[in-house]
Amino acid sequence: MNLTIHRGTNQIGGSCVEIATTTTRLLIDIGLPLDSVVKRLEDRKQYLPKIEGHIDAVFISHYHLDHHGLVSEIDPSIPVYVSRGTEKMFGINAIFLRMPKVENLRIIDTKTPVMVDDIKITAFTVDHSAYDAMAFLIEAEGKKILYSGDIRTHGVKGRLYEDLPQNVDYLILEGTNIGKSESISKTEKEIKDQFIALFKKYPDRINYVWSSGQNIDRLVQIYSASLKTGRTFVADLYVANVLYEIHQLNANIPSPYSHPNFRVWYAKYEKLNENENLAFRLKRFKIKSKEIADSPYKYVVIVRPSLLEYIQKINAAQANVVTSIWKDYEIRTENEAFFDWVDKKGYKRTHYHTSGHADQDGLRKIVAHISPKTIIPIHTKNKAQYCEIFKNVIVLDDGERFEI
Ligand SMILES: [Zn+2]
Repeated sequence: MNLTIHRGTNQIGGSCVEIATTTTRLLIDIGLPLDSVVKRLEDRKQYLPKIEGHIDAVFISHYHLDHHGLVSEIDPSIPVYVSRGTEKMFGINAIFLRMPKVENLRIIDTKTPVMVDDIKITAFTVDHSAYDAMAFLIEAEGKKILYSGDIRTHGVKGRLYEDLPQNVDYLILEGTNIGKSESISKTEKEIKDQFIALFKKYPDRINYVWSSGQNIDRLVQIYSASLKTGRTFVADLYVANVLYEIHQLNANIPSPYSHPNFRVWYAKYEKLNENENLAFRLKRFKIKSKEIADSPYKYVVIVRPSLLEYIQKINAAQANVVTSIWKDYEIRTENEAFFDWVDKKGYKRTHYHTSGHADQDGLRKIVAHISPKTIIPIHTKNKAQYCEIFKNVIVLDDGERFEI
């Protein structure tokens, strides 16, 4: 069996791993590099790794662009295996974010093996800032390889790593936080407590929270903090539809129909065109900007910089603006206008966030549980430092063919 990491040995994102026996070739993830500048969808093609030969199947670990962003560029006859959560998010993003539709999707459920010719693949749900993210166990020719995908131990379902298989031959391990500070990451519960404290401290203010509409566990914390402090949670049509869809998989995820104090803000409604049913099905929970503007202190509103013109319509006198995303997004040029306006209004800015990736302590726990014979770094800028933390590390380069 051969292993080739086409991309990911030197960068965070853009991951693409090939595993091939004499008869079968699989890809695990086929991501767009995070630093890629793609203005038009057709420009993505230039980032496709050079893969020789026929591909029998692709397995996508989760719905972040740096793990699946090139999947629409491959031959549409190739089956693409994803979790149910990833399938739901692909569907919503095709409509709201105009992402290309992924053909030939197949579902892989946790701990239910799939055979692709002579390779057996078993998915394991892991905790990450993407809902229903998966690690994959690949078994062939008497060897076992575990691909961690993106993983952490400090999230709501952080203990899921304890379900991962043990004593594998190779662990391909993400190391986003290797080489960064040794500090311990906050838990999602601690993030919720920060929100509760803020909402309580300023009873007269509206709270705008910029959180990714795809970070389900974070949205759950914000909803819960809103409820606990007597506020109404307001999500725009995109985020409300994401939660509505994921609720179909997990009844604990807040959805307007089942959860109180959840309203839907129809900002950017015009995008839906032929998918009017997605607007129609949430209509009874609709809240207008004017209703928010009349008593802003009642609301916690999920926002993003592209909603600026709608936030300006509310034009609250005082507000808290919490960024609950990776800090680097705040300094991107496309978000300047949003923060300039926030500062001009004198709104209070706060940052509450925790990484979607394991800190070094978390990675040690994961490795101690799995007890792999060998570790191969991926999704890291600091592969050389793995050797300082773990035993039996083999460092590969992008495109290097490694015999298992
Ligand atoms: Zn990810």
